[in-house]
Parts: sequence; structure tokens; C-alpha cells
Amino acid sequence: MQPVIIVLATRNRGKSEEIRRVLAGYPIDFRDLNDFGVLPDVVEDGLTFEENAYKKSSFYSRILGFPALADDSGLVVEALNGAPGILSARYAGSDATDEQNIQKLLAAMDDQVNRAAAFVCVLSLSMPGGAALTYEAECEGLITTQPVGQNGFGYDPVFYYPPLEKTFSQLTMPEKNSVSHRGKAFNEFKSELDKIITWIRQRQGEV
Ligand code: IMP
Repeated sequence: MQPVIIVLATRNRGKSEEIRRVLAGYPIDFRDLNDFGVLPDVVEDGLTFEENAYKKSSFYSRILGFPALADDSGLVVEALNGAPGILSARYAGSDATDEQNIQKLLAAMDDQVNRAAAFVCVLSLSMPGGAALTYEAECEGLITTQPVGQNGFGYDPVFYYPPLEKTFSQLTMPEKNSVSHRGKAFNEFKSELDKIITWIRQRQGEV
């Protein structure tokens, strides 16, 4: 039987390589958006991580005619009523750097006693006909009062993970992947991959 084709809804080659590595060993031929040349962008104007992940996966699945896998993630801070949430990447403005986003977050948290936060990751796998599967995972932690550590990206330097007594920026990549929202969502996806492949083949009329 031919491998199933899944398009990873990203142009970031680092990200697609990482996903290929995590999901290696299955009869899946992963492509990414770079394999299809110039494509329109998706407007990520959903109000939830789920909506935005589904917008991306369903959009690319429909226009390319293959199953597509997209993720959406961000930081949800309890004392800020869920901010920065779906705006995590552009919290301090549309071209904000990680540093600017972190400074805005620390300023907003200045007088807050409740430091509870969670990273959230939603994966959406869509078929060209619109059917979709969703996987969601969270990782709970605390917002520090200043950046600590050198690794990672985004809000990692200010996200303290109590079970390991370190910020995400102090973890190695394998350590972070074993506990992070994204690592957990992909592990759950991977644990169901045999069923997911059957689900895809059924919708393509192959079984
Ligand atoms: P996206 O889902 O890749 O667009 O990520 C949205 C934004 O959430 C990123 O730009 C980061 O600011 C933040 N974010 C998501 N995951 C992480 C993480 O693992 N560490 C730090 N920041 C993250």
C-alpha cells in the first residue's frame, strides 16, 4: 500500500524536520508548504487555538488536496484573564521580538501574586472534504519575575516549570519535549497514528 501524504502546514523547515523525526517509522510521506511553491497565507483570525489550528489545516488541505496537519500554540496567564493567549506571538505588536513580548508580560505581571500560567498546543489534522481530528495538550507552570536561562524561544525564559525546578530556557531540547505542551500533543498524536492512517485511508476511499 502507498504511504499516505500529509502536508505539514508550515514553511519553517526546522519545524517540519523536527515533526518528521518525531513521527518517523510510519507509512507517511510528509511534505511541507515549501514543496508547493507560492501559496496564499491563511488569516489566523480565530478566537481560540482550536479555531486557528483548524483554519490553517483545513485551508491548506482544501487548496492542496491532501490531508494537512497544523498546530497553534501560546501562553495563557491566569492573572491576565488568559492573555497573551492566541496573541502570544504578537503580544507587544505585529513585529514584536521575543524580548519585547517578554518585557510586556513581565510589566503586566509586576504586581501580580498569582503567577500561574500554561502553555497550550492544539494540533489539527484536516481532510480536503473538511473532516478533522484535534489534539490538545497543556503544560502548567509559573511566570518568573525576570528571564532565566539561555535555551529555547518565545516565553521560555520566563516560564518556570515546578516539577523540574527550572525555566523552559534552562532545559535541554529533549527535556523540554518530554514535558512541553507541544511534546505532549505530538506524543498523543503519535500514539494514535495507526488509527489516524486508517482514518485517512477510509476518507480517501482506499479501505
Ligand atoms: P505558534 O503556534 O508557533 O505561532 O506560536 C505562538 C507563540 O506562542 C510563539 O511565537 C511564542 O511566543 C509562544 N509559544 C508557543 N510555544 C512556545 C514554547 O514552547 N515556548 C515559548 N513560547 C512559546
